[in-house]
Amino acid sequence: MKTIIEPFRIKSVEPIRFTTKEERKKILTDAGFNPFLIHADDVLIDLLTDSGTSAMSSDQWSGIMRGDESYAGAKSFYKFEDAVKKITGDEFIIPTHQGRAAEKILFSVLGGKGKYFAANTFFDTTRANIEFTGAEAVDLLNETGKHPEKRAPFKGDMDVDALEGFIKKYGRENIPLIVLTITNNSGGGQPVSMKNIKDVSAVCKKNNIPLFLDACRFAENAYFIKMREDGYKDKSVLEICQEMFSCAAGSTMSAKKDALVNIGGWLSLNDEELAMKCRNLLIVTEGFPTYGGLAGRDLEAIAQGLEEVVDEHYLQYRIRSTEYLGEKMLSNGIPIIEPPGGHAIYIDAKRFAPHIPAEQFPGQSITCEMYIEGGIRACEIGSVMFGKNAMMELVRMAIPRRVYTQSHIDYVAEVLIEVYKRRNELRGYAFTYEAPMLRHFTARFKQL
Ligand SMILES: *Cc1c(COP(=O)(O)O)cnc(C)c1O
Repeated sequence: MKTIIEPFRIKSVEPIRFTTKEERKKILTDAGFNPFLIHADDVLIDLLTDSGTSAMSSDQWSGIMRGDESYAGAKSFYKFEDAVKKITGDEFIIPTHQGRAAEKILFSVLGGKGKYFAANTFFDTTRANIEFTGAEAVDLLNETGKHPEKRAPFKGDMDVDALEGFIKKYGRENIPLIVLTITNNSGGGQPVSMKNIKDVSAVCKKNNIPLFLDACRFAENAYFIKMREDGYKDKSVLEICQEMFSCAAGSTMSAKKDALVNIGGWLSLNDEELAMKCRNLLIVTEGFPTYGGLAGRDLEAIAQGLEEVVDEHYLQYRIRSTEYLGEKMLSNGIPIIEPPGGHAIYIDAKRFAPHIPAEQFPGQSITCEMYIEGGIRACEIGSVMFGKNAMMELVRMAIPRRVYTQSHIDYVAEVLIEVYKRRNELRGYAFTYEAPMLRHFTARFKQL
C-alpha cells in the first residue's frame, strides 16, 4: 500500500519560531513549569488541544468574505442551518458560540436539584454545566474502556446494563436526558459503535427519555464505524453520520472540533416546546436565533467545514496520522492508551516514569521534558488536572486538524524517543501556587 498523503496542498503558511534548548529551559522556568503559561510563539509544535486549532480551507476563507452580517435572517444562517440539518436531520438548529454555550442552555432548561443525567463519559464542560444546576452527572462507560492497555474496537461504548440499572435506581421521571459523547474525548478519543448507539437509543425510547449526542467528533466516530463495524464498509461516512444522528433526539456540538473552524457550536433538537425554551435563553445569553453567539462569516465557515469533514480522503488521512504517531510510540516501547483514538495520543505516564509517584505528577514531568527537549507543548491529564480524583496519569498529544505534516509528526516522535531514553532521570514536581478550582490552567511548580 502506498503512503497515505495529506489530501491538500498548502497555500498559506505560518512560520514557526525556533528556540534553543537553553532558551526553552529559561522560558519554562519563568512559566513556573506550566506549559499553559508559555507564550504560543515560544512553542515549536503545539499539541495542547485539537479545539479551535484547525486550518481552514480556501473555500472556508472565501466563505468568511461572503458572510452575511445582517442581524436577523442572514443568508449565512440558512446555509449553516441546511448544513447542520443535512447531517443531523434535526428540525430546530440553534447556533452558539461554542459547545459549552449549547450545554449551558440545554442543561439550564432541563437540569436542577434532584435530576440525574448519564453518559458514556461526560466531558468536563458538560459535567460542569450539569452540576452547576444542582443536578448529578453519572458516567457509565463499558468495562474495557477503563483499561488503557486493552485493545478493543469501540472502547467508548456505554454500558447498557448499567444504564438500565441507573434508570431503575433514579426513576425515569428524574432523568431528563441521556448523553453519548462521540468520540469519547475524556476516555482517550475512543469511538462508540453504531450497535451501542442503537442499543442505548432503544433503552431511552422504552423509558421515554431523550438521547442526545455530544457530537464534537461525529465524523471521526463515523469513520471508525466504517472501518471497524460489520455492515458499514460500503456505506458513505455521510450516511453513517445520518444514521447515528437519527437514533438521537438532538445534539450539542463544538464546531471547534469536527466543523473544522476556530469558533462556533450548535444545539440541535426536535422537540418544539424545548426548542422554544432554549431559544428564549439563547436570546438572553448568546444573541438572536439566526446568529447565536457568532458572526455571519463564522456560520459560512462552519457550513463549508461540515461538507469537508465527511470527505473520506480527509478522514482517512486524519485517523491515519493519529495512528501513525501512536505506532511510532509503541514501536519504541513508549506506553500509550491503546488503540490510538481519533484526535490524540495519550501517553501512560505511570508506566513511562514509574519512579515518580502520582503526588509528584509524572505527567507534568514528561510534559516539561517534551518542551525542553523539542519545544513540543502537550497537556497533562492526571493528578495536576483532577487531584485525588485522577483515574490515570496521562499526557495528551492532541493533533490539530490539517495543521502539521508527516515530518512534524516524525519530529514529535524523535523528541519523545529521546525523552524516553533518559526517563530514569526525570524528576517529580510540587506546586508553588494552585488556584482553588481548575488549577491546572494557572498553577506554578518547582522541580523536586
Ligand atoms: C470541546 C468539547 C466540548 C466543549 O466545547 P467547547 O467548544 O470547548 O465549549 C464538549 N464536549 C466535548 C466532547 C468536547 O470535546
